Amino acid sequence: MTLFDSPAFEAHEGVHAFFDEKTGLKSIIAVHSTARGPAAGGCRMWPYGSAEAALDDALKLSRAMSYKNAMADLDLGGGKSVIIGDSRSQKSPALFEAFGRAVETLGGRYWTAEDVGVSPADLASARTQTRFVAGLEGHAAASGDPSPVTAEGVFRGVRLCVRRRYGRELDGVVVAIQGVGHVGAYLAEKLHAAGAKLVITDVNEQALEAVAARTGAQIVAPGAIFDVDCDVFAPCALGGAINEDTLPRLKAKVVAGGANNQLASAEVDRVLFEKGVLYAPDYVINGGGIINVAGEIRALEAGEAFDPKWVEAKLDRLAQTLDEVLEHAAVEKRPTHEVATEIAKARIAAAQG
Ligand code: NAD
Repeated sequence: MTLFDSPAFEAHEGVHAFFDEKTGLKSIIAVHSTARGPAAGGCRMWPYGSAEAALDDALKLSRAMSYKNAMADLDLGGGKSVIIGDSRSQKSPALFEAFGRAVETLGGRYWTAEDVGVSPADLASARTQTRFVAGLEGHAAASGDPSPVTAEGVFRGVRLCVRRRYGRELDGVVVAIQGVGHVGAYLAEKLHAAGAKLVITDVNEQALEAVAARTGAQIVAPGAIFDVDCDVFAPCALGGAINEDTLPRLKAKVVAGGANNQLASAEVDRVLFEKGVLYAPDYVINGGGIINVAGEIRALEAGEAFDPKWVEAKLDRLAQTLDEVLEHAAVEKRPTHEVATEIAKARIAAAQG
């Protein structure tokens, strides 16, 4: 299959591959759409088994960023970058400087930020080579780590879904969280503070123990999280958590979490709907982080300080948008992801004129 035939390609404006001989950087930057503004989306570092797997991930994540930015009501298009490598052993400032030079070649059509495996310190290295980097620390426009804001958006989304599906508040609700990294850990703390009972899993034992100590969460093995008797399943690890194998095992009537690309296929969206599971479309509920990043891009472009009030207003709007999506889906008796994608595409098409 060629790039253009790939189902994940879906009319990307540009797909760029970069190799730096000195540092070994292998990176793909995918720009799905710049209709609403410059493409913005994080950089993921992951030990992909093949270049095809990295490309497929970049394309899917990039398209999702177009939808996410549109649903978060931002003047930004969608893009994403991936670096092929192990973030625990193959990182260096020089690698991220080379990545920064790659971003710079796109001349501002793509703004990068943090994603899985990439930290603000890595971005600081990239920033020495290009100004199109957000999610930094230590300057007036900086927004810092977007994860707490992503988690706040997800928390509000979980609360909304629980109200809609169960007609109750979070106190006593059982939430199973898959992945307690940046987003999952903050989400666990917020849910715990709201009285929810937590069951958590992760492949990182240290992260698990730390979150369990702070929240009293019960720990289960990674493979067992899908069988937990819970009210809400919150995917906060990598993509594809809800698939043919896991779907029949899920007990929750709400799926709402921070991970990108949670559904393995469009078919999964329909089966969730038919099972009566309320699914919060991933790129809507997890838009808090990109809102935070957009606050930084906005401040950098205007030469102003970061404005948390602007972020808060967008976060409020995001919760309303999620409610609108869920309401449309309920009234029209259709899967939520399908409805969200229709709205996102319409917003992008409207910007294209
Ligand atoms: P992270 O790397 O800090 O956390 C991911 C966690 O998932 C890690 O602790 C990892 O060990 C764990 N994990 C990986 N595979 C697992 C498995 N099979 N079972 C259980 N746990 C597993 O990343 P993050 O920043 O918290 O992001 C989590 C997800 O949310 C990703 O899909 C990311 O794209 C998405 N997201 C993040 C942000 C953000 O602001 N950080 C914003 C939007 C979306």
